Amino acid sequence: MKAHENVSRRAFLGGLAGAGASVLLAEPLPAAAREAAMTNPFDFPLVDYHVHLDGSTLEKVLPLAKRRGVKFGIVEHAGTKENKYPVVLSNDKELKAYVKGLRGKGVFIGVQTEWHDWMTCFSREALGLLDYTITDAMTFPGKDGRRVKLWEKGVEDRVEMADKQAFMDRYVDWYVQIIAKQPIDVLVNVSWLPAPLAGKFDTYWTGKRIGRVLEAAVKHRVAIEISSGFRLPKLRFLQAAKKAGVKFAFGTNGRYPSMGKLEYSIALARKLGLKRADMFTPAGKGQKAVQRRTY
Ligand SMILES: [Zn+2]
Repeated sequence: MKAHENVSRRAFLGGLAGAGASVLLAEPLPAAAREAAMTNPFDFPLVDYHVHLDGSTLEKVLPLAKRRGVKFGIVEHAGTKENKYPVVLSNDKELKAYVKGLRGKGVFIGVQTEWHDWMTCFSREALGLLDYTITDAMTFPGKDGRRVKLWEKGVEDRVEMADKQAFMDRYVDWYVQIIAKQPIDVLVNVSWLPAPLAGKFDTYWTGKRIGRVLEAAVKHRVAIEISSGFRLPKLRFLQAAKKAGVKFAFGTNGRYPSMGKLEYSIALARKLGLKRADMFTPAGKGQKAVQRRTY
């Protein structure tokens, strides 16, 4: 194993010139980051559209993209300062500085938007500089109408969940509302369930509910992420999505060094027989969601 590692590492370093190599030599990749490139069985390039730089830097992350044979799409959080994340882009100035910092670095540049008012923070011109926008449905209106991160502890105190099926109907309403009203290109972390419902995918994601989400996605041309981070959605959901004509994007929601680990996305896409035409690609000028949608 050790010899193999040495060979592959040497081959990798040999393929890198100048600054990239010195970065690597100064800071060797941790064990968890050292593995072979993803095998690409498709007629389209591998992209992880859901990479967070939280607690890391682009310089640290880029060698992983090269090593895994996966292009990265970086997504910073974007919305009002009421959203609590390590970094939240909240105005044109911050957004433009972020785009400038990533431009020409071989990555796609996106944002993961927060709550339903993020569009009010930016001009259309500034949003148009992005390659794409993503969001999820995991921040949900609580009993008092204020935002609740559904993954946080004590969620049942803040969101009415005693009747789980009734909650699910409201959750699906929320999905549909997000897709219909926000100019996003890709919906991520799709079909994730909060702790009180977790592990019962088939109980709560009925065909009817899946159908409602997919109908909205087709209508508004929003792609669905196949998440390797959450290993969601399950095959049944994705089969329905393919049948409905929804486009797909791969993502990890990865923080260093987990970005680009697309095993689940690749496995499910193989099962579905996905081709280039089924996949999301960042839209050209005028066709990005922030440009073509009214909001
Ligand atoms: Zn994310």
